[in-house]
Amino acid sequence: MSDGAEDHPTSEELAERKMRFLFALRSRGVTDTRVLTAMEKIDRGLFVRNIFADRAYEDMPLPIACGQTISQPSVVGLMTQALQVSPRDTVLEVGTGSGYQAAILSQLARRVYTVDRYRRLVREAAELFRRLDLVNITAIPADGSHGLPDQAPFDRIIVTAAAEDPPGPLLEQLKPGGIMVVPVGQSDTVQALIKVTRTSRGFDYEELRPVRFVPLVEGMGSE
Ligand code: SAH
Repeated sequence: MSDGAEDHPTSEELAERKMRFLFALRSRGVTDTRVLTAMEKIDRGLFVRNIFADRAYEDMPLPIACGQTISQPSVVGLMTQALQVSPRDTVLEVGTGSGYQAAILSQLARRVYTVDRYRRLVREAAELFRRLDLVNITAIPADGSHGLPDQAPFDRIIVTAAAEDPPGPLLEQLKPGGIMVVPVGQSDTVQALIKVTRTSRGFDYEELRPVRFVPLVEGMGSE
């Protein structure tokens, strides 16, 4: 690219891009100001590295390495909002992917653990977290369908890959009063985003909206 203007947008262009990005989030129901502030601060463009990088500010999912996807910003916003994270919370994310969702959570929680079955994705996300000085995120290569027993229990759990049912180990690793947000359903079909709240008597389930995520796969990935 020889055109410098394309590489370095002017501050006016940056401001307009940010305004459109936040407007799209609000118009799709992301209204929590703490969530919007976090999404204003964390630049999604840093988490999309390939030929799709120039679409990072559009409200669409995009391909990342290892055949995975970075979720649509409005879905990240709505899931984060549904999780009702407070500044004292310890959060587990299953499905690090690009690291974008974890970076948003790092602005709202005390501590974020994020796991992915692809070591490469964890390594690349951890490099970005260091660069951005997001010191309260710990990224670990692991099969998240077993949760993270050494760090459990968690105040909040977010799963960013679709399971056929909310995985039992994750339910067990949720504190009483804790909330888990998880897409449930077969891959390649429309799934339902579910909010699970652990009560003193058991679990309450609330269906939030239709979504489409890559599947939760057992075992470690090949890269
Ligand atoms: N939250 C990510 C997007 C996740 S895409 C972001 O903000 O970019 C879903 C991710 O879940 C993929 O990276 C995939 O490798 C991961 N995944 C699927 N099954 C998994 C499992 N059992 N344990 C951990 N990660 C898993």
